[in-house]
Amino acid sequence: MAPSAVFYSSACAPLIDRISAHLESVGTTFEWQAFASLFDTPVASTALVAEADLGEREYPLLGARRVVVIAAEWSIKKTADWMAVGAFSCIADDEAERIASELLVLQSSVVADTTPQGDDILQAVIDAIPAPIFFKDDRHIYRGCNAAFSEFIGLPTDEVIGSSVYDVAPKELAERYYRADCELQERGGTQRYEAPVRYADGSHRDIEFYKAVFFRSDGRKGGQVGVMLDVTERNRLVRRLERSSRTDHLTGTGNRREFEAVAFRELRRHKRENRSLCLMCLDIDHFKQINDSYGHAVGDQALQFMVNCCRSQLREYDRLFRVGGEEFYILLPNTDVEDAYSAAQRLCDFLRGRSFVTHGAEIRMTVSIGVVALTGYATLDQALELADQALYRAKREGRNRVYLATETVEPVGTGGCSK
Ligand code: GH3
Ligand code: MG
Ligand code: MG
Repeated sequence: MAPSAVFYSSACAPLIDRISAHLESVGTTFEWQAFASLFDTPVASTALVAEADLGEREYPLLGARRVVVIAAEWSIKKTADWMAVGAFSCIADDEAERIASELLVLQSSVVADTTPQGDDILQAVIDAIPAPIFFKDDRHIYRGCNAAFSEFIGLPTDEVIGSSVYDVAPKELAERYYRADCELQERGGTQRYEAPVRYADGSHRDIEFYKAVFFRSDGRKGGQVGVMLDVTERNRLVRRLERSSRTDHLTGTGNRREFEAVAFRELRRHKRENRSLCLMCLDIDHFKQINDSYGHAVGDQALQFMVNCCRSQLREYDRLFRVGGEEFYILLPNTDVEDAYSAAQRLCDFLRGRSFVTHGAEIRMTVSIGVVALTGYATLDQALELADQALYRAKREGRNRVYLATETVEPVGTGGCSK
């Protein structure tokens, strides 16, 4: 039979000859393997680790291996402290014979497998549950799981059991799980959180974790159990519903609700960055006549046509919203009021020249537009009110024109697009 492997950290190297000599005197040899970090050693391996070589980041791995900590200055307290974080024992570095004896014990069948084998029926029950289930001991070492969990991790159950979270998950993810485990273990009770997770088959899922601390019969905390609920589909539906509640279904533009969310956000940002944000408030002229003459369906087509025309004239980062039957808001980021006014005039002129044909009729539309610099007023409502006044002034003055919002309504202008 090949000799069993024993891993050792670099500061233990000078001890190996002496330990080997003691082992050889009783007819035992080990295959010695140096390692740089405990992360490089396999789960359930036996390792001698000098205290000086052991970083705090490696503590979570101790319970998943049989680690004898070698101390330059030994005390019984030190042994207790190292065992509390998952080490098997702690021995002074000048006690080569005791270390050799400990290795003999560790390799014997007495401690070969400390993993409790769960009750068969309980295992069958949890295997039948499609959600991944796991339980860990008080040192965060997996002590049991169901088939769904083993599938999620991509390892057979017996390889999961006895491993630390660092042995089965990528490092950043393991760190997150470990922190959450420590927090729960410390606090007791239950914990629920959502996290994105990558399954062993490569798929990315949104998972809701439900975890709870369990207690031993003597009242001590025994570890924790966890269930993973896949909420990917639920989240997707919620996002779809949210998107849908902010979208105008006829034209595909944002609706008033979306406008309010975007406008508040953009207004705050533009004011903070001292940039100008403008708005066009646009209403189709005599739209009712289209409905009355050609029917509601053609009216709907006209609205879609209007949206396509507007989109073709806007910059990539301008945003169009349908906020009423035939009323639209257009947000113009980083635009001063003169440029917004010119853009509105161009749009007004462009739309006047367009038409579409349906049921043998050529449909033409004009629009009236009120323009306002949103960043020029204390509140969004105040700015919208003034834009509305400018729009209705354009209507009063004969439609098919643009007016700029002013604090006080200006005297009546004449024809064309007016300022
Ligand atoms: P004005 O120039 O003063 O704006 O006149 P208007 O006819 O455009 O305005 P008014 O407010 O009198 O009429 C708007 C019409 O828009 C009335 C309504 O039936 C129609 N409308 C509102 N929503 C829709 C819609 O989704 N589809 C269709 N086809 N018509 C709609
Ligand atoms: Mg109208
Ligand atoms: Mg209207």
